[in-house]
Amino acid sequence: MEISNFMNRRSGKSAVVIGGGIGGLATALRLKKAGCRVTLLEKNSTVGGKVAERRVNGFRWDVGPSLFTMPQILDRLFTDLGESREKYLTLEPLSPTCRYRWADGYQFDENEFFWARPDSARLLRHAEGLYNLSSSAFLESDPSELWKKVLNPFLLPLLRFLPAMSPFRSLASASRHFYSDPHLQQFLQRFATYNGSDPEQTPATFAVIPYVQAHFGGWFIRGGIRRLADTLGQLAEKHGVEIQTSAQVQAIDGSGVTLTSGKKISADLIFHNGDVLAAYQNLIHHPRAASVAAQMAKPQRAISGFVVLLGVKGKDPTLAHHNIFFSDNYPLEFQQMFRENRPAENPTIYLCISSRSDPASAPAEHDNYFLLVNAPANTTSIDWAKESPKYADQIIRILDQKFLPGLQAKIVHQEWISPADFESRDGAVGGSLYGWASHGMRNSFLRPPIRSSVIPNLYFVGGTTHPGGGLPLVLLSAEIAVRLASKKL
Ligand SMILES: Cc1cc2nc3c(=O)[nH]c(=O)nc-3n(C[C@H](O)[C@H](O)[C@H](O)COP(=O)(O)OP(=O)(O)OC[C@H]3O[C@@H](n4cnc5c(N)ncnc54)[C@H](O)[C@@H]3O)c2cc1C
Repeated sequence: MEISNFMNRRSGKSAVVIGGGIGGLATALRLKKAGCRVTLLEKNSTVGGKVAERRVNGFRWDVGPSLFTMPQILDRLFTDLGESREKYLTLEPLSPTCRYRWADGYQFDENEFFWARPDSARLLRHAEGLYNLSSSAFLESDPSELWKKVLNPFLLPLLRFLPAMSPFRSLASASRHFYSDPHLQQFLQRFATYNGSDPEQTPATFAVIPYVQAHFGGWFIRGGIRRLADTLGQLAEKHGVEIQTSAQVQAIDGSGVTLTSGKKISADLIFHNGDVLAAYQNLIHHPRAASVAAQMAKPQRAISGFVVLLGVKGKDPTLAHHNIFFSDNYPLEFQQMFRENRPAENPTIYLCISSRSDPASAPAEHDNYFLLVNAPANTTSIDWAKESPKYADQIIRILDQKFLPGLQAKIVHQEWISPADFESRDGAVGGSLYGWASHGMRNSFLRPPIRSSVIPNLYFVGGTTHPGGGLPLVLLSAEIAVRLASKKL
């Protein structure tokens, strides 16, 4: 394999990684293994980016990702480094993966019985075919490497799975093809929000996501998902990556980077782990950077999130580790977020209670509620500091009135995180969690490329570049970026 040859070589080149998100940490580790001298620069006081946590009065919340999928991609990073993942992180499968509830009383658990239903099994058969067709060609490759993989004759029979999940039809349309029950149609449509998009505009091809979740499982990391960031940070130090925190980059050119302190760091290779749009708008010094940024700013941004953290007294037996409370008008939610650019009045609410699997995350007889609703990536015309307390109360009221009577009286701690916080903490333009919405073919499958079009030794890694957002995909972006850079050495 090309990557392992590169890894076994000692390149002696210097590399700088801007940003210590999961993609940045994985890139730094892979570059170090390849023999580069690596400096990782993180503007915040700790690495991890969106994989952050909050601790108050005996409660601990993961305030970023809460569901871990495709653990084999993480394991591959450890193996490539000559490390054993089991030594550092305990992964546990969750069953049910999630509990779904509607205000009319309908509910089901996503587990092996649900996936064995004839309609679900048919969906999985198609999605598996499509996954096998596309995973090596799309997820694990740069678009420039695509054709040699997709023309593999062994994959051609799998093309029969394409029509039902064609990129020319929407995920909403596919949901009606596979399910007759409107509740289950809404369940399938929800997977568009895994990359911050509207199911009516997202290609049906994204129906592979439930297959990935059903086949590879939904996992929980003992001690919390934040352990992943801590572990990769520790490994980076162990393997000799120089990590500088509170080190914000303000300029990138072909020779290296300049920090806000004025310090210059030169490097043969530069990897940017923050938002690609922010890099072109603010950091890249090149005559063509402004026009690239203007083009990139045109397609719609993926949605952001609004988070409410609750400490709750008692343990409601009707709740699972992951829960979804669906709104009764899904199209209206997306209309309000994408077209009216405002928070949904009656949003679908995701609730993660990690203390169900990890009792140490809350005091005895209490639970740590992490509530997340989709929110517009709009930090210009919404004053989140003013709106957030009201919106947090509205979300709690919906839960209390429609799904969890008495919740309000049991709350012992409450705080919120808004799109404005995601923007300032992670450098995500508009607070968008996944960069660009997967609306239409082009924006879904041709994200801003990993290799910069203006500076030849600059690469992008993380959720805003190829193949997309989410922990497994940002780990894949690190693999692909280092493989592409290997051609330079
Ligand atoms: C609320 C929420 C829920 C989520 N749920 C899930 C989930 O359940 N499952 C899942 O798989 N994914 C989920 N995600 C997405 C997942 O967290 C991200 O896709 C992933 O963590 C992004 O990693 P990244 O490598 O792109 O870096 P990021 O986490 O975006 O980090 C980028 C880093 O770069 C730093 N940086 C930016 N600019 C500069 C600069 N100029 N100088 C120095 N440093 C800079 C930032 O401070 C930051 O630390 C969720 C995200 C959020 C926020």
